[in-house]
Amino acid sequence: MSTQNPVFIPGPTNMPDELRRAIDYATIDHRSSNFVEMFMPALSGVKRILKTETGESLIFPSTGTGAWEAAITNTLSPGDKVLIGRWGMFSHRWIDMCQRHGLKVIVVEAPWGQGVPLDAYSSALKGDKDHDIKAVMVTHNETATGVKSDIASVRKVLDAANHPAMLLVDGVSSIASMDFRMDEWGVDVAIAGSQKGFMLPAGLAILGVSQKAIAAMETAQLPRTFFDFRDMLKANANGGFPYTPPLQLIRGLNHAIAMLEDEGLDNVFARHHRLAQGVREAVSAWGLTLCAQSPDLYSDTVSAIVVPKGFDGTGFVTHAADKYGVAFGVGLGEVAGKVFRIGHLGMLTDVMVCAGLSAAEMTMLDLNFPIKAGSGVAAAQEYFRNNDVTANLAHQAAA
Ligand SMILES: *Cc1c(COP(=O)(O)O)cnc(C)c1O
Repeated sequence: MSTQNPVFIPGPTNMPDELRRAIDYATIDHRSSNFVEMFMPALSGVKRILKTETGESLIFPSTGTGAWEAAITNTLSPGDKVLIGRWGMFSHRWIDMCQRHGLKVIVVEAPWGQGVPLDAYSSALKGDKDHDIKAVMVTHNETATGVKSDIASVRKVLDAANHPAMLLVDGVSSIASMDFRMDEWGVDVAIAGSQKGFMLPAGLAILGVSQKAIAAMETAQLPRTFFDFRDMLKANANGGFPYTPPLQLIRGLNHAIAMLEDEGLDNVFARHHRLAQGVREAVSAWGLTLCAQSPDLYSDTVSAIVVPKGFDGTGFVTHAADKYGVAFGVGLGEVAGKVFRIGHLGMLTDVMVCAGLSAAEMTMLDLNFPIKAGSGVAAAQEYFRNNDVTANLAHQAAA
């Protein structure tokens, strides 16, 4: 596989040169003031990206999966009831983790291609008169199907039921690429990782915790040591870490946040919307459809494209890698073989997306997919030429 071609997998994402240079850094003593000076801005920067002023940020050496585990073990006890929906591989894995931790998991099934089933969440919460449900969990952006769920509406459902459950949100493939508002949406634990919107290598579990979640950690009985928020918050209060910090990644995180803020978060979101829309124009010009069932669900970071009947999504990904040295995402779980995915998040431009669409087209033509040569690329070109970023900012404001 060529390392010159960008990747079009939905994480890990392409690393900007600036971030590759930032993480190429000598060892420094993590008990020195130099480390404190590096670490404190990372913690406050994460809070700005998550849009929380009342909560705290936490950074563990781990990945998104570790952040899932940190979220549940620090806020819940064995036998606690949690409400969670399954509509893709990532929500499925979080459910599996909850079950393995001995939680009583109320699973709401939704078709893969749909998002959070608000009505089912609402009736479960309204029916829970004794408030046995301790946490409501949502995958903000289901990376397996390219489906975005509306977290503000989940908050409304909780409030309408007058339910005190915590709201835990997996934002691994949305945070730093799509609009996320921790305080405004009343999110109690926000979950992210370093290798998607933050454009870094895998290695950091990034979390935001509300005061309610911080209070819950005092009574939560699920076992944890490495991921114990109490140890982390105590050490962080003095700019320290409870064990050896991944300081090169923390340094990279500072630079990533600076890049995002230099561009402006709203511009970052508008760029992702624009790139995603270019991909969607191509998909419809090919005569194909997305796994996501309706436009309100379309993810701005990843598109799962349904392959025509009789064709194989995994074969598409293999061929693109073998012949063109380009990485696309395979279908996972229920949609394995039925879709291929184009990741369009992180450091990406119109031109890179056009190249990716061109590679996808060559691959489909090689495999005799019934598409017209050049059709998707032309549709994306047309969209990119005629839609400037300002127009997309207006879209963002209206949303
Ligand atoms: C990538 C991803 C994860 C898992 O993160 P890892 O860093 O691979 O552990 C969890 N949830 C979502 C939505 C993801 O996209």
